[in-house]
Amino acid sequence: MDCCADEGPARGDARFDIKKVADGVHVAVAAPAYKVNSNTAIIESDDGVMVVDTHSKPSAARVVIAHLRELTSKPVRYVVNTHFHWDHWHGNEAYPAAYPDAEIVSNQITREAMVKKGLKRIADHVRNMPAEIARLRADLAAATPAQRATLERDLRLAEGYLAEVKALTPALPTIAFERTMKLYRRDREIQLLHLGRAHTEGDVFVYLPKEKVVITGDAVIGWTPYMGDGYPEDWVATLDRLAELDFTHLVMGHGHVAGRDWLRTFRGYVHDMVEAVRREAAAGATLDEVKQRVTTALAPTYEKAFSAYDEYRPWRAGLAGNVERTFAMVS
Ligand SMILES: [Zn+2]
Ligand SMILES: [Zn+2]
Repeated sequence: MDCCADEGPARGDARFDIKKVADGVHVAVAAPAYKVNSNTAIIESDDGVMVVDTHSKPSAARVVIAHLRELTSKPVRYVVNTHFHWDHWHGNEAYPAAYPDAEIVSNQITREAMVKKGLKRIADHVRNMPAEIARLRADLAAATPAQRATLERDLRLAEGYLAEVKALTPALPTIAFERTMKLYRRDREIQLLHLGRAHTEGDVFVYLPKEKVVITGDAVIGWTPYMGDGYPEDWVATLDRLAELDFTHLVMGHGHVAGRDWLRTFRGYVHDMVEAVRREAAAGATLDEVKQRVTTALAPTYEKAFSAYDEYRPWRAGLAGNVERTFAMVS
């Protein structure tokens, strides 16, 4: 079966590698895309399926739905959003369209962030995409023959994305919980947890205690975290609460499935970055000096570990953004 037949105008962009993590638990690991896609966790229980996060556009979610139908004939009952970022919930509407009884679940903080910030950002995308498309057209006009194929592809994907984001009918959570929600199924227990602020104010973790699997959204990812809406000073304490859970598999918002080792490295990076920025800021350094000194200090320990997706998400650019956010918060 051609899994990607309904990929729509963005054909070729949304690709997923389906990995089994435990019995009935799979992850659709997103390949790098022009508009980044999140991973999706697929949790099958006796009476239906829960999926976690829905990518940057409905066509990407439909690719996962096609994969999902190869895994099971059971319906999706719950769609969980780990946080309000576009690349984790713009595809929501594909699920109730395919499974009319599907409920969309998140915590109250995340639902409010979708209403207050997420909807506005959709309008921003619609407004900003034409300029991005014009830039790609200009680059293409000036391109060497070797650069053309990539730029032509990006242009096609950018146009496809604009068409989709314009047509989006945002599907907000239909169920919102406060701190914790637990689902007890005959064969499985699923916990939705809020462990404190990290990548956003309302990060949701999905924990399967029996299978020892935890799904982290972007509170832990396979490359340098984005902190633009984050709380760098709270992040480590939240990760320490995560570390208290008994798990062996870490299913992250982006990147391959990892284990406890990666959580240690990731926590070390956030901790050391925040401490270094605090130290430099207290000593009176300017933002540019802090960026330069913290990069020099952290590179020997972290640059290689955070460069697995090198060109796609370069560590130094990510670090510069993290330093900027942290500096603004500590000074
Ligand atoms: Zn993300
Ligand atoms: Zn995010």
